[in-house]
Amino acid sequence: MAGRNERCSWCGIQLAVPPEVCAIWCAVCFGMTLVRPNDPFIQAQNSFSHVTSQFRGFMNTFMKASVNSNRAGGI
Ligand SMILES: [Zn+2]
Repeated sequence: MAGRNERCSWCGIQLAVPPEVCAIWCAVCFGMTLVRPNDPFIQAQNSFSHVTSQFRGFMNTFMKASVNSNRAGGI
């Protein structure tokens, strides 16, 4: 089995990473380290979370706007 060594993003210790994983849980500091940063699957995950945060911002704007419009209609 051809494992790799990756450095923990949190404590910097060397972790033995099996070839099929894209993230590893550090046994020392319990931090999650993403490996293979050029992997398209990980990039897709990052862009998805970015879109999700944008969507949450949009929902907040939408809810505030509807409150304002209701208030304006009540006057
Ligand atoms: Zn660590």
